[in-house]
Amino acid sequence: MVMTPTAEELQRYAELVDEISRHDVAYYTLARPTVSDYDYDQLYRELKEFEEKYPAQRAINSPTLRVGAAPLTEFRQVAHRQRMESLDNTYNFAELGEFFTRAQKLLDGRAVTYVVEPKIDGVAVSARYERGALTVGLTRGDGRTGDDITENLKTIRQLPLTLTGAPEVLEVRGEVFMTHAGFARLNAEREEQGLELFANARNATAGTLKLLDSREVARRPLTVIFYGVGEVSGSGCAAQTEVLARLAALGFPVPAWRAQAADGDAVLLAIQELDQLRRDFPYPTDGAVVKVNELAARAELGSTAKAPRWAIAYKFAPEQAETRLQAVTFQVGRTGVITPVAELETVQLSGTRVSRATLHNADEIARKDIREGDTVIIEKAGEIIPKVVGVVTAKRPPAAAPFDFAARLAELGLDADREPGQVVWRLRQPSRAQQIRALAHFAAKQCLDIDNLGPAVAEALINAGYVKTPGDLFSLRHEQLILLDKLADKSADNLLAGITAAKRRELWRLIHALGIPNIGAQTARDLAQHFGGLDALAGAAYENYLRKKTGKKGQELKAVESVIPGVGGVVAESLLVWFTDPAHRALLEQLRAAGVNFSAAADHDRPLPLTGKIFVITGALSKPRPWFEEQILALGGAVSSSVGKKTTHLLAGADAGGKLAKARQLNIPVLDEAAFEKLISQNHNELTG
Ligand code: NAD
Repeated sequence: MVMTPTAEELQRYAELVDEISRHDVAYYTLARPTVSDYDYDQLYRELKEFEEKYPAQRAINSPTLRVGAAPLTEFRQVAHRQRMESLDNTYNFAELGEFFTRAQKLLDGRAVTYVVEPKIDGVAVSARYERGALTVGLTRGDGRTGDDITENLKTIRQLPLTLTGAPEVLEVRGEVFMTHAGFARLNAEREEQGLELFANARNATAGTLKLLDSREVARRPLTVIFYGVGEVSGSGCAAQTEVLARLAALGFPVPAWRAQAADGDAVLLAIQELDQLRRDFPYPTDGAVVKVNELAARAELGSTAKAPRWAIAYKFAPEQAETRLQAVTFQVGRTGVITPVAELETVQLSGTRVSRATLHNADEIARKDIREGDTVIIEKAGEIIPKVVGVVTAKRPPAAAPFDFAARLAELGLDADREPGQVVWRLRQPSRAQQIRALAHFAAKQCLDIDNLGPAVAEALINAGYVKTPGDLFSLRHEQLILLDKLADKSADNLLAGITAAKRRELWRLIHALGIPNIGAQTARDLAQHFGGLDALAGAAYENYLRKKTGKKGQELKAVESVIPGVGGVVAESLLVWFTDPAHRALLEQLRAAGVNFSAAADHDRPLPLTGKIFVITGALSKPRPWFEEQILALGGAVSSSVGKKTTHLLAGADAGGKLAKARQLNIPVLDEAAFEKLISQNHNELTG
């Protein structure tokens, strides 16, 4: 009998496809997940259960049909000779038992043995050697095609660059990761430099492998362990145990701990042993990988759409601990969002001492009925900030009263509210520090680029009471400015000239300058191009960002897609919320009255000096590549990744290779860094002069 889902089930399924797809982008493409792996895996499981129950309902863009995410366009893309697959996973022994039964059934009861290895929490890579020399290193990408990260891989000291006695072709597969110590050092350095911290070692590794400048990669503490092979000419190995021994003999680092198990029961024992030992491993692990040992049996078992049938990951559930919630405090973020924080009696959890945990928001506190004085369960799953997952109500002190979020805000004198339908409370009046940050951002290079308006001057303007919102800048007067300590007569003139010039800037700069959460320079450009004017953007509705996907014959699929590439649900929501705020509407009117450019058309009326020029960047440069790209884009030029007939300039750093040769062949002007900077500064003068 064919089962049909209820309307609620269908609705939930559509939500899951959408939510998981968003998490996939955050995790694989941006290396900035917003939920723990455990929470992600629960959503994924729910999705899979629906699809198993109603196979005919599976959406064509279902996350169960794809491995990872599309490769990044910045790198050369290379097809994998053999697909790089993911692993099915489970958090319980009962399901692991089903894995053994299924394998046995498919093999007609033929006996096999298993290997258990630590599941290292890093990023999968492949490295190909031909006649003993490393030729190419790839990420997994979408499993079929990966990014060429050879230069980045070469910076890892443990990776042999040449091999002796290797087969003609040998492709090894393994995990690049950071040790606990390396990761802690990296984050400490970043903290000192005021840079954003990485949430965990895996994200730091993923973010590092995506860097375009391999010299920066070389400074990061990456390391690698190999656990398998892809294409091999005449391997001669019959089992995983032999493969690992052979790799080790060739000089590859392989898992130091691994166990061979005769049957399912022995696998369970090995996993329990690993769970104890892994606490002392120098690198992060999130589970055990169980693999059929015999390669002939593996070939028979084959693969599903995204994972082999001969292996499974048993994942360790996040660690939990019990402790007392002493108090709830509040943290105020950059945009005025108030996050409740649990102040805890210190406990030991996943090797660290924990005394604070996030409570997410007011609704979460109410839903879990978390009260001050309660004994709570906290959990840590890879993220830096542990969370409170529940309350041990049996241990609740009789005097503990429900937590009243609004009353506590009032007690602390925080003037905050929340929009209907929103979960977060936000400060009504931005704090002085927020005002200063918002003003400095408004004036920054990547925004309205107002000379002489750095953080110190922004602070002086706010402290003097001359400016509350960026819109007030446009009514500043010379007599006011010279009263400020920070500004001499000449600088006051320059500042006023800068403010006047800011009225004529391109639309994308203004959109970026508004400081809308989640809108960076690139998104601002995409929005400016799509909407053409600030009023159209301010008036946009949800449907202008996301639309229902339609299938081949126009039938509706249970998924939504972005109207503007790169603008997904989170960004759309951010924009919609921002533009409905009356204070923001008032700011727009103030800017309009001052004569600030609201239209992208004006950008085209006044072509920028590099409009129509297409640059390609290659070789090792003294600054990160995005810096050069920004310079080009800011002057109206474009950047392409490959040299072709349309290329107008090649910026070539040291050790430039194929692109340089091609540019010479096509007679394309080649600039070194000094010539490039000269070109940029000349054009800048032309623009501002
Ligand atoms: P996975 O990381 O669960 O398992 C497959 C990977 O394990 C392989 O590609 C390989 O890199 C690695 N691995 C480590 N040690 C290994 C060993 N000894 N042998 C073989 N492989 C080994 O799968 P995935 O497809 O990379 O990612 C899916 C998982 O990523 C999800 O289950 C989820 O936990 C996490 N995820 C989280 C989010 C989020 O938002 N938090 C989003 C997407 C995915």
